[in-house]
Amino acid sequence: MKFLEYEAKKIFGTYGIPVPRGVLISRAEDLEFGVAKDLGDAVVLKAQVDVGGRGKAGGILMADQDSMTVTARELFDREIKGVPVREMLIEERLPIEHEYYLSIAVDRSTKQALILFADAGGVEIETVAKENPDALRRASIPLLMHDLPAFMLRNLRGDAPREVSTIINRLYRVFCEKDAILAEINPLVSTPTGIVAADAKLIVDDNALSRQGITQNRDLTEREREAEKHGFSFVELDGEIGVIGNGAGLTMATLDLIEYYHGHAANFLDVGGGADKERVKHAVSLVAGVPTVKVIIVNLLGGITRCDEVAQGIVNAGVGQKIIVRLAGTNEEEGKALLAGRGYQMMDSMEEAVEAAVEALK
Ligand code: GDP
Ligand code: MN
Repeated sequence: MKFLEYEAKKIFGTYGIPVPRGVLISRAEDLEFGVAKDLGDAVVLKAQVDVGGRGKAGGILMADQDSMTVTARELFDREIKGVPVREMLIEERLPIEHEYYLSIAVDRSTKQALILFADAGGVEIETVAKENPDALRRASIPLLMHDLPAFMLRNLRGDAPREVSTIINRLYRVFCEKDAILAEINPLVSTPTGIVAADAKLIVDDNALSRQGITQNRDLTEREREAEKHGFSFVELDGEIGVIGNGAGLTMATLDLIEYYHGHAANFLDVGGGADKERVKHAVSLVAGVPTVKVIIVNLLGGITRCDEVAQGIVNAGVGQKIIVRLAGTNEEEGKALLAGRGYQMMDSMEEAVEAAVEALK
């Protein structure tokens, strides 16, 4: 689970990592009550959205006490990469002297924590690695240690101020104790009064959420809620080809084939085992309702699921988009007979079905 910046900063702060003073607001009008008046004249307004490259996408605005409310209103009216701004962090504006990069992530190949520190922060770490590899230092460490060895901290920080060592060590504690898969400060900045985490990112392993006492209250989209109600595994993507399969493996394989044929899936939908005509009808309607969907592939293997039930479900949904069907298994012939002559395209293999879908979009 990914925490928003203000939540991650709160956690980092409890571990003694210096974070900027700030307040969280959910409407520009909140500022009229003076909640941000103690932050100094120069402030930064930061949209709390789960979006990478938020600053570049217009999610961070500078203001002062006089312009703050107007600027906040402007930021609340924006969508950052399509994500509406529901909460905003107003922070004291740091006089930045230098930006560093610091992250700790799980390295699956070594089963250790991988710590990265770079003299050049504020930009994506991939950019640093490519353009300025000498600025990037790394260290691996087993996840069981409580403190990082002093030599490792010194090597990581290089010429950066000594306080940076303390901060790396504290972030490592956050990382271990919170069962994180990523803890990142980008940029970690030096100011005339010390080192501060100007940004914060924390992703906790979903498998550790109950141990961490975290209940997830992610905002589901209308369609995701609908899918949950029917017990479908459903994920919206951003392509044009709607996908319905039974079983996560078959559905994933369908997505892989779509990529292979240079198409783009609009969603993942696994109807689950033993789907009857009602379930199939709901699945088809749901996928057809995704605004980007131009064509739908229904790829179902009959077992307990009967192909004639599936076919009836497809017909009953009666959606406008072109539907390409691949049915195999129990009552296959009955299913195909039901669909025949009704304008559905039937394919014997999933390769053909996917090729036909990609072709249909040309
Ligand atoms: P991101 O785009 O989501 O990574 O947002 P960040 O919080 O990392 O901010 C992006 C950039 O905005 C930083 O790299 C800084 O250059 C700038 N920035 C953010 N906060 C401050 C601040 O308090 N003072 C100054 N001068 N710049 C800031
Ligand atoms: Mn950042």
